[in-house]
Amino acid sequence: MAITVPRRQLFIGGQWTEPVRRKTIPVVNPATEDIIGYIPAATSEDVELAVEAARKALTRNKENDWAKATGAVRAKYLRAIAAKVIERKSELANLEAIDCGKPLDEAAWDMDDVAGCFEYYADLAEGLDAKQKAPLSLPMDTFKGYILKEPIGVVGLITPWNYPLLMAVWKVAPSLAAGCTAILKPSELASLTCLELADICREVGLPPGVLNILTGLGTEAGAPLTSHPHVDKIVFTGSTTTGSSIMTSAAKLVKPVSLELGGKSPIIVFDDVDIDKAVEWTMFGCFWTNGQICSATSRLLVHERIADEFLDKLVKWTKNIKISDPFEEGCRLGPVVSKGQYDRVLKFVSNARNEGATVLCGGTRPEHLKKGYFVEPAIISNVTTSMEIWREEVFGPALCVKTFSTEDEAIELANDSQYGLAGAVLSNDLDRCDRVSKAFQAGIVWVNCSQPCFCQAPWGGTKRSGFGRELGEWGLENYLSVKQVTQYI
Ligand code: NAD
Repeated sequence: MAITVPRRQLFIGGQWTEPVRRKTIPVVNPATEDIIGYIPAATSEDVELAVEAARKALTRNKENDWAKATGAVRAKYLRAIAAKVIERKSELANLEAIDCGKPLDEAAWDMDDVAGCFEYYADLAEGLDAKQKAPLSLPMDTFKGYILKEPIGVVGLITPWNYPLLMAVWKVAPSLAAGCTAILKPSELASLTCLELADICREVGLPPGVLNILTGLGTEAGAPLTSHPHVDKIVFTGSTTTGSSIMTSAAKLVKPVSLELGGKSPIIVFDDVDIDKAVEWTMFGCFWTNGQICSATSRLLVHERIADEFLDKLVKWTKNIKISDPFEEGCRLGPVVSKGQYDRVLKFVSNARNEGATVLCGGTRPEHLKKGYFVEPAIISNVTTSMEIWREEVFGPALCVKTFSTEDEAIELANDSQYGLAGAVLSNDLDRCDRVSKAFQAGIVWVNCSQPCFCQAPWGGTKRSGFGRELGEWGLENYLSVKQVTQYI
């Protein structure tokens, strides 16, 4: 499919701006391995300019004082952006698919979610006006008080490549709704749709500097943003390793951070399930978007009584998943995002084999695809809890399997992880599902399903999956600071 990649610059203070050092990064189509364009690569000088623009938009621009605008005014812009996303949905979906390898129809659904997220936070921005000056209940008549919720200030938003625009908008929409101004640093592996978001912001007349978008490398653009003294908060989604280094850098300035990090989430399948349905959820939970989902349920715990039948079906159906160019009709799995990610997935599978696990299927290049970063989804059994495949996040299409005999054993295995993002339980016994839900050490639990995600529900993890919550009203609170005003009467 021939798609023209627009040549874009950095978006600073409402203007397209050439990066100070004129550096670029090639954009590679993961389905063909061809270079299809270049994105600008920001460095610390550009970060400086963007921070200046964002601060100006926050406090010093008399005409467009974003932080002091009412929520209703901010909501109008968010709704206008949502409308433009829908208007440009097919163009955006094409760019997303060619940039990160996502099947085209999935990319189009992501654009609906992007627009939905802007709409949702437009509603919350309006609601914020009514919540100002909420009275405090104080124990002495001689005092009265109230609460003000104020934007935190200039926020740095650093995002990954798996849902390039959607992950960015999970941060952009609530931060703007709260009255913050923002600098977005998308992943260098997939930035095209974020640059189109900049174009949309220009089209709807978003005041200059309210949203600035800097493409570039983590070390060259992300790190200076994190350590900048005039960035008031960093909201990050990405790997646990990067999250930890961001936290270290922010700690020096006592800068707040919110971290959505990696996962190795379990799915527990009890022996009372409808096996066909459970197989479908298991496949969806681990292989959707090629397993490149932080919450992918990539550790399967299946009751020993049904394990043989379950695994037979799982392997058979997995082998039938259509893997192809993302633009081909009926594509269910495209390539993984990059050569680095391709090598990483294959290495995980071969390491598992070398450690003594059994690869039931996949973990190799599909025979019919000679080029591109395509990987057959892997199912790996005979896994022990000390193996790398059990302990480490693959962030690719690889499912490891263990069997269990009791509920307690399943819970113990499920919680045997440094991560605590999500967990799924499949059983017809809803009391059991309740018990397991409570026992999961995770921020997100799915009962009789895996991966549904709604704008209204909080998203985030425990343990090394990070802290803070995105989405829902919690997502808005991420960008608000609470002030008490107490008066002597
Ligand atoms: P990554 O950590 O390599 O990169 C994420 C972002 O951080 C990119 O924009 C990158 O340029 C930037 N970055 C890298 N080094 C930096 C530094 N030193 N300072 C500042 N910024 C830096 O992660 P990735 O490979 O893009 O994404 C995959 C990871 O993201 C997986 O671990 C996955 O689980 C996680 N993820 C988590 C969630 C969640 O909601 N918890 C959602 C999606 C992805």
